[in-house]
Amino acid sequence: MTESQAMIGLDAVVKTYGRAPRIVHAVDGVSLRVDLGETLGIVGESGCGKSTLARMMLGLEPPTSGVMRVSGTDLRALDAGQRRRYRREVQAVFQDPYSSLNPRMRIASTLTEPLVVHRLYSANERRDRARAILERVGLPDDTLSRYPHEFSGGQRQRIAIARALILEPKLIVLDEPISALDVSIRAQVLNILADLRDAFGTGYVFIAHDLAAVATISDRIAVMYLGRIVEIGAAKDVAHDPAHPYTRMLFAAADPTAGTLPPQGEPPSPITPPAGCHFHSRCPFARPDCAAQAPALREVHGRLAACHYAESL
Ligand code: SF4
Repeated sequence: MTESQAMIGLDAVVKTYGRAPRIVHAVDGVSLRVDLGETLGIVGESGCGKSTLARMMLGLEPPTSGVMRVSGTDLRALDAGQRRRYRREVQAVFQDPYSSLNPRMRIASTLTEPLVVHRLYSANERRDRARAILERVGLPDDTLSRYPHEFSGGQRQRIAIARALILEPKLIVLDEPISALDVSIRAQVLNILADLRDAFGTGYVFIAHDLAAVATISDRIAVMYLGRIVEIGAAKDVAHDPAHPYTRMLFAAADPTAGTLPPQGEPPSPITPPAGCHFHSRCPFARPDCAAQAPALREVHGRLAACHYAESL
């Protein structure tokens, strides 16, 4: 797949916050692509940079350095028309369905507002589209005349998904879309997302703490640790046969039968990340040179992993 076929491409993207000597390295040289129609899962502990990455993909924050491309064009070089198209083609669903819907707006206005902003369709057509998209997410017609507080968390998240979908985006960035929901509701929302993807061909960037959910819905998974990608590859490889010690620990923590230790201790501060391999302070396999030299992402058993000793572990 070439860069021009990628919906979004990141090349050595860095995002820092603050000033010396307290610079937070939120994203530290990430290169990846999200292809049209694919679902890329992004996992890692809190503070690893995955939400910052999501915000950059949504154009909500510019990278400090590096290049972000949309359909092959550098984000900084988009003209006004291309920028409008990008805002239409890449939509978001966030964690909290309670705060992401305007409590004073009827659902009809919430759903049709993006169409109004982008000056699409007549008022009648917008309402028809809102009705049709509600049906796709399993909510009845009378939803349109009601307010957010009249719905449960799972229903509100379905409304948020419907609002993201109404512009027929090519990509939806979902940042923890199920973590505020009851476990019993999560599977329903996941099924809806999978159905919609199959029906519309929409791609997803799916960020979640629920690793089983990420493994189920993703085509590929990227694992982040302290702002860097430590492993990226086909979901089945990364989730079921991880190559990087951190990925092993992360997935083992979610599966007590895996027989591997969960991550020990807290991740180090992103203000003063350890030299060399960022993971060496927690890695049970660390050797002296791990603290001296940062491992590059390289091919290991059919995926990319950043560990000097991945083959021999
Ligand atoms: Fe562990 Fe060394 Fe591999 Fe880093 S490079 S993950 S410290 S073995």
